[in-house]
Amino acid sequence: MIELALAVDLRRAITAGHPWVYDRALARRSIPLAEGQLVRLVDRRGPLAIGYADPGSPIRVRVLGADDSGNLGAEWAAKRAERAAALRAADVRLADTSAVRLIHGEGDFMPGLVVDLYAATAVVVFDGAGAAGFWGPRMAAVAEGLRAGGFAIDRMWQRERGQAGRGRALSGSAPPEAIEIAEGRARYEVDVRWGQKTGLFLDQRDNRAYAGGLASGREVLNLFGYTGGFSLHAGLGGARRVVTVDSAPAAVAAAGRNWALSGLDPTRHEARVADAFAYLAEAREAGRRFDLVICDPPSFAPRAAALPAARAAYRRLNALALTAVAPGGLLLTASCSSHFGRGELTAAVAEAAAQVARTALVRAVRGAAGDHPVLPAFPEGDYLQLLDVAVE
Ligand code: SAH
Repeated sequence: MIELALAVDLRRAITAGHPWVYDRALARRSIPLAEGQLVRLVDRRGPLAIGYADPGSPIRVRVLGADDSGNLGAEWAAKRAERAAALRAADVRLADTSAVRLIHGEGDFMPGLVVDLYAATAVVVFDGAGAAGFWGPRMAAVAEGLRAGGFAIDRMWQRERGQAGRGRALSGSAPPEAIEIAEGRARYEVDVRWGQKTGLFLDQRDNRAYAGGLASGREVLNLFGYTGGFSLHAGLGGARRVVTVDSAPAAVAAAGRNWALSGLDPTRHEARVADAFAYLAEAREAGRRFDLVICDPPSFAPRAAALPAARAAYRRLNALALTAVAPGGLLLTASCSSHFGRGELTAAVAEAAAQVARTALVRAVRGAAGDHPVLPAFPEGDYLQLLDVAVE
């Protein structure tokens, strides 16, 4: 096996479980590597870990373990998958949902691999060419492991990361246009081929239920609402009226259908295709306010270099969102970027509140649902933050 020497001391971090090695940490970056090829990381003290290579990515190596005694083949992959599945099968919080993240990459010791299950359809995403090279040949074993861990899987559909519509069947037939799933009392039709991510944003599941618990009797505005997730739970939780805003027409149409599918009265829901910033500016002009505003934007800080622009965007968005909250109401505001964590988001809310002269009190800080486990030594994995803010 090829050896890669480290130029930076990563022994403590890697031993503690940090699974990423950047190209800049390697002594020689020019060694030719195949996508997904196994490599041994070494430092002055000797062998340190085994990982797979991703020659086209700044995250050049993803760590799989301390050594290759587990042999890192099919049997090993099946065992890791079974362990991930068993964790979900035993999680009582997932008992009333049929859409579950079975494998959360790094958080399940399977770096670069995501598997989301919608009813009996597994949707697979490889996080880059290295992950595809390593995991691709092991996917039949991964499927067996997931079944052994307690989940029925009829087909596996692999999607190209970030490219809607592009994918291929790894096993079974291509998925139908719509797969019906349950999330508590909410029902969705999920389009795993053309929908965003793998079809749904499963990480916000618990936060959607939480929002539902706050919605009774309230006028609710769900910004960046996608296919209606937060709206459905608000409606089921007794919201007087819900407005869903998203810039993607297909998502907004699906939100309307999911509202009906969940047995809710269509006269209590308004689905709007609009830019959230523009909608909020319009609401401000019209003096329109809501008792509960949910604000779940896409990441404005996908890279650390985007941070200054992201700070300004989150500040502006939260200032507009706070303005749309009636006095005594609530704002649930989120960030899904590890570069924009709890501290950054809290600071953005503080600055926004000062700017629009409103008082904001943080009542709760929440993260991703439990089927998105976080390695304690890998803070980058803790990417989702949601603040519950009381607004005076
Ligand atoms: N809250 C959703 C997930 C939101 S993901 C849920 O729980 O399912 C972010 C959403 O923002 C996507 O649906 C995307 O279409 C939408 N979006 C991106 N930019 C937008 C903009 N400027 N205005 C409104 N929606 C936008």
